[in-house]
Amino acid sequence: MKTKSASNWSAAQSEDLYGFKRWGANHFSVDGEGFVQVEPIADGRSIRVMDVVDEAVSMGLKAPLVIRFQDKLRHRVVQLNETFRKAIKDEGYKGEYRGVFPIKVNQLREVVDEIVAAGKDFNYGLEAGSKPELMIALAMHEGNQRLIICNGYKDDDYMRLALLGRKLGKKIIIVIEQLSEVDSVIRLAKETGVKPMIGFRVKLQTRGEGKWSSSTGDNAKFGLNTAEVLFAVEKLRAAKMQQALKLVHFHIGSQVPNIITIKAAVTEAARFYCQLFKMGFPMGYLDCGGGLGIDYDGSRTNFESSMNYSLDEYARDIVFNVREICTAMDVPLPDIVTESGRAVAAPHSMLVVEVFERINKRESLGKQHQPKSKHKIVTDMEVLLKNKAKLGRLERYHDALQKKEEAFSLFNLGYLDLENRAAAEQIFWQICEQIDKEGNASGYQPEELHDLKKLLADQYVCNFSVFQSLLDSWALKQLFPVTPLHRLNEKPTVNAILVDITCDSDGKIGSFIDLQDQKDYLQLHPLKHGQSYYLGIYLTGAYQDIMGDLHNLFGRVNEVHVFLEDDEPNGFYIEEALAGSRVADVIEGVQYQWEELCRRVKQQIDHATKKDLIKPREGVRLVEFYESQMLAKTYLNIVPKNGKKK
Ligand SMILES: *Cc1c(COP(=O)(O)O)cnc(C)c1O
Repeated sequence: MKTKSASNWSAAQSEDLYGFKRWGANHFSVDGEGFVQVEPIADGRSIRVMDVVDEAVSMGLKAPLVIRFQDKLRHRVVQLNETFRKAIKDEGYKGEYRGVFPIKVNQLREVVDEIVAAGKDFNYGLEAGSKPELMIALAMHEGNQRLIICNGYKDDDYMRLALLGRKLGKKIIIVIEQLSEVDSVIRLAKETGVKPMIGFRVKLQTRGEGKWSSSTGDNAKFGLNTAEVLFAVEKLRAAKMQQALKLVHFHIGSQVPNIITIKAAVTEAARFYCQLFKMGFPMGYLDCGGGLGIDYDGSRTNFESSMNYSLDEYARDIVFNVREICTAMDVPLPDIVTESGRAVAAPHSMLVVEVFERINKRESLGKQHQPKSKHKIVTDMEVLLKNKAKLGRLERYHDALQKKEEAFSLFNLGYLDLENRAAAEQIFWQICEQIDKEGNASGYQPEELHDLKKLLADQYVCNFSVFQSLLDSWALKQLFPVTPLHRLNEKPTVNAILVDITCDSDGKIGSFIDLQDQKDYLQLHPLKHGQSYYLGIYLTGAYQDIMGDLHNLFGRVNEVHVFLEDDEPNGFYIEEALAGSRVADVIEGVQYQWEELCRRVKQQIDHATKKDLIKPREGVRLVEFYESQMLAKTYLNIVPKNGKKK
């Protein structure tokens, strides 16, 4: 039962405010006590995320923490494959679905392991985009029916690795991205005596949409244009290797928000497929690449953070369009391949961060500085604050802005002391707050005043690095759902943006999901004395984990892998716990030897001891402290403290 708490706010209201039901696809909800619950396979069995956090903390793994719900990963693989199977059956399609997981989306062993295991009954394969990924794919891939698709730029060794796979009897397809690769594959096939399977990646005219749309069109990095396809055909014929060509591939970019784009691309690629078949090549596979989206904001629109179609619709549209075109051209139906990475991996993991500080503009509102001798600018602003009834909100806002600028000029010219400057700033924020409050009552916000909310939003400082754990939020302004993990039966009364602990003013999250467009702040709870406040950032399993950089040398975060388990008191167990980077780890990554650094610092401390700047006993302690920090975690070691500043 959802009960209302003293603050007259219910868990259900939180569920609605943060959109759990919209972006959570039946996997997330809020329980009556205000905790976020996850249902990894949407079968009624749920786990309280805070239980996982508590258990991880008890194992010494504090936030920032990545939680992987392994069951959810398996669930997505099964869902994707079953949806395609159903579409194939419903459409009476004579051909199979042969999906592959693109390793680049999340190369972590446990992730690839789980996906390979989950795909067993579906002949679900792997896709590699580089030599290291192909090395993984060759070793992790099982069975000779599942595909391995080789994309990306290839040198001879990459090709040789693929041919090694052929020798083992694997269905491994080398996708030709550049004309020169045709020559290499012909030469190496002769050299090794292996019969390769190859595909052509074609440059479609169909344009992608959204943030990742530059994967198609004349200026795309990869693929053969029409003339090049014909040259490649001639080369294969001249080498008597017609039998090798099995596949047509396209990729129109990731997170395609609009189904119309997908339909158009499939149609165009199917035409290429049919033409090549008619030219006498065996063919057999049509590979539709990635692009299947995730509805990060839950709006089901063609906004770039969303998608206007379901998985069912995606599968059905591909199957239907391929069938229509091939049937019309009297070409046998190909097996259908997709390389859906984001859609498979994104939902299974989330990032937990801890808020440890609130930077508050309104805080200054209470106790105003009273300068010993008040400057006229301050009295002017006080009048503006008091006579609120006289002028409209917008006019008062403009006046306040002007007075604030004036105050800064006076300060720069030496006419205003620190106390008067402080008073002017404080009154400015009070006026803004007043105008904003009145706006809340009246409902309508003129454009300029809309920005006021953003201006007034507090900053919640969180113990994590955007550059390590949420790179696309910074690089592409991608939106992710963010919510508190607890206290969801209390009304969130603070508008805030999130800032991280890197020394980079870009290290923040200032845009949040909303049904319409996006929001400039997130509604959160005031921090409480001595209590941790945790936020969850969701749908981070694709790309974010593995693209992180070492900005400020923070490095990898702690991580736990969770499985559903009915016999456990909280319904789950942690199968694997990975400790995040230690200072020594990240330091070695940039070519320092930690022993050498310790030696250097010890030398300096010894020197200072000789000069009697440090007592010997203290010197020993400082050396030990420095050395122990080498093995400490890179992130802040936070002890919850006073929620109210000062
Ligand atoms: C990145 C990539 C994918 C994965 O795309 P998603 O949108 O994550 O499914 C698939 N194929 C190729 C060639 C890629 O480069």
